[in-house]
Amino acid sequence: MEVKKNILLFLILAFAFTACSPKAATVKKDRPVVVILGIDGACWNLIDPLVAKGRLPLFKELKEKYAWGYLRTSTPAKSPIIWTSIATGKTQAKHGIDDFRSKKKDARGKFSMFTSRDIREALLWDMLDVNRRRSVLVNWYLSYPPQPLNGVNVSDYFRSSAISSNDKKKNMLSQTVFPPERSAELVKFLVPDYRQALKSTNLPDFPELYKQMNTGIGYLDLPIFKNYPEWVVQEKLVDDVADHLFRSEDFDLFAAYFKMSDVVQHFAFMSFIDDAYKKILDRSFVNGKLPDDLETQAYAKIADIVCPVYQNLERSIGRFLNNKKYRDAYFIILSDHGFSFFFRNNTVRYNHVGPEIAPDGIIIMRGPGIKPGKIKLARIYDIAPTVLYLLDLPLDRRMDGEPLLRLLTFRHDSHYTVYKKKKPQPFKKNLELDEKNLQELKALGYIN
Ligand SMILES: [Zn+2]
Repeated sequence: MEVKKNILLFLILAFAFTACSPKAATVKKDRPVVVILGIDGACWNLIDPLVAKGRLPLFKELKEKYAWGYLRTSTPAKSPIIWTSIATGKTQAKHGIDDFRSKKKDARGKFSMFTSRDIREALLWDMLDVNRRRSVLVNWYLSYPPQPLNGVNVSDYFRSSAISSNDKKKNMLSQTVFPPERSAELVKFLVPDYRQALKSTNLPDFPELYKQMNTGIGYLDLPIFKNYPEWVVQEKLVDDVADHLFRSEDFDLFAAYFKMSDVVQHFAFMSFIDDAYKKILDRSFVNGKLPDDLETQAYAKIADIVCPVYQNLERSIGRFLNNKKYRDAYFIILSDHGFSFFFRNNTVRYNHVGPEIAPDGIIIMRGPGIKPGKIKLARIYDIAPTVLYLLDLPLDRRMDGEPLLRLLTFRHDSHYTVYKKKKPQPFKKNLELDEKNLQELKALGYIN
């Protein structure tokens, strides 16, 4: 009897062990691929009301079928800091990018713009290089000058030099892409006509819409409206180049960055919400916060204005997700921060730089062995280690985040190493491109 019992216990234990062992989990046959789609400033408090109205069917599906959640960001929520933390897994104190511009003056006595050369830590693609994996980057924040890598690096200065009518700047185009000879092929995707770009992206002509409102307030002279046509053309170029490289290249990691959501959210509240409503909000702030129902209503109002931007994003994201070649790829769709209301100098503001605690971004993950449902708070620092884990590459102990293992149905052994930043390539500063970038940041109100 005792023996029988023991045999039974042994069988139960053996079964339980097999069921829980890593071998029983999803085994992926091919080498894993990770795709990161970065959407600047995307936030759930704008997406959710649009999903509820049936206007964003893809975001609805993603939320229902895959893993989703908030991505805790760092304060102040300045894009170069955060995107660099996402790609390094490290805090600004380690990677060295603590603003848009360096706090030290350069030889001309000016505060120079940070570039890829100033990043002190290895980026994901440097780590892939060491492991002989291939990366394709499109428009990643602070990727200019494009550092050599095993793959293609279309830097964030490509889009502005591509649309320049200035011949000198056009000649500089090859300096914005690695390998430089690829720039000629990629610039062919440029549709320089604003009307045509509006038509194919379905984005509204916001400056024209504002003009029709006849508010009598001269916002149209603001650089954010003056730059809008160029930004639409740039966004379409980035989208088409990303789509082309995604379909034609082989890679282990693909990362693309889109900017338009941040741009439009920067002017949506200021220009398209009428003064009477703003006064209601002003009066309703109690202890620095709006009552919940009013806040929800105010987000919904902004969501209605920015809806076409998210619908255009759905089209691009859908193109990536539906590509059969990458059916089993890991997709990470994320933003660097959200936007929120706060009260400053007796008036309500809507922004991401300014609130005491920066508003969180979004994250959505899809892939084999990723559990669906709400992700318990993930942090910007967790992305890089998660990508390394998914690719089965050694992790870096010096990262400030950890792989999001709680999302995964499988485990494999983790190894550790220390990834070092490669010495940046020799480089001649391009004052003209720097100046253009500076003007763009001024237009967004990031720099005075
Ligand atoms: Zn941002």
